[in-house]
Amino acid sequence: MTKKPLLMAPRWHVKSLLIISLLSIFVIGVLLINIPVAHASPLPPNYPVPGGIAVVKLDSKQRPAQILYGKRKVLVANHNNNWYAVVGISLATKAGKKSLTVKSSAGSKTVYFDVHDKKYKTQYITIKDKRKVNPYKNDLDRIIKEKKVIVSALRHWSDKENVPLQFKLPVAGRFSSPFGLKRFFNQQARKPHSGLDIAAAEGTPILAPADGKIINTGDYFFNGNTIFIDHGQGLVTMYCHMNSIEVKTGTQVKSGQQIGTIGMTGRVTGPHLHWGVSLNNVRVEPKLLLPKQYQQDLDLSLH
Ligand SMILES: [Zn+2]
Repeated sequence: MTKKPLLMAPRWHVKSLLIISLLSIFVIGVLLINIPVAHASPLPPNYPVPGGIAVVKLDSKQRPAQILYGKRKVLVANHNNNWYAVVGISLATKAGKKSLTVKSSAGSKTVYFDVHDKKYKTQYITIKDKRKVNPYKNDLDRIIKEKKVIVSALRHWSDKENVPLQFKLPVAGRFSSPFGLKRFFNQQARKPHSGLDIAAAEGTPILAPADGKIINTGDYFFNGNTIFIDHGQGLVTMYCHMNSIEVKTGTQVKSGQQIGTIGMTGRVTGPHLHWGVSLNNVRVEPKLLLPKQYQQDLDLSLH
């Protein structure tokens, strides 16, 4: 007999073995927690409310060929080797059960998700330039023409495999007006606030929050100097009231690249950026694409 069974070992030996084992488990555990999982492109939080984003996990190993929400194409993302539908929900959506059509080589199937209710606050704004609240007749012609251009930019679709779903803040400033507010201009009801306002001094740089392509720039009646960036698969961002526009339509921009500066063009009460995020042609809460620290006032726990 050359080897002693473990149980026969002296007590101190058993104790140190136990300590070493526990330490190893602890060290391995710490390492596992800190090792980033490969290809874990971050997803927005699941926030299925009017003006929110539903992140719906799909039961499929292959990338679906196409996903439709009603008639609109939906963004498809991969996270930790699972496929997800990332669906923009319009502010006008009523709470309840909604469905997606998921098309693949095996056929077409329906996937359901629930939209929960969310109440938005009301805001009353006084605009000194009355023409910006009740436009003149010739202004209306311009507004109608511009609306077509704006709508077509916001519903732009381009096929792109990896769409950036975590943005940088486009401008250092104060959040001056939240997304979704029910608005009254000079006591008259208008559409709810479709973006996030960030106030900063005139001339402050505005940066692209993620890689994308400039699909339109212009000077619009309400929005002032405006830029639209296409990030792929129906994710489009919009920058309004700018002082200067520093990019050209058709060019690619990198995350963090300066695209213009803060201004007060169009319908404004002071210098700020109106930042809009469009997903499957509906305007959604921009904070959902920002790092978690900016989402503290959104009640994500309910969903
Ligand atoms: Zn705004």
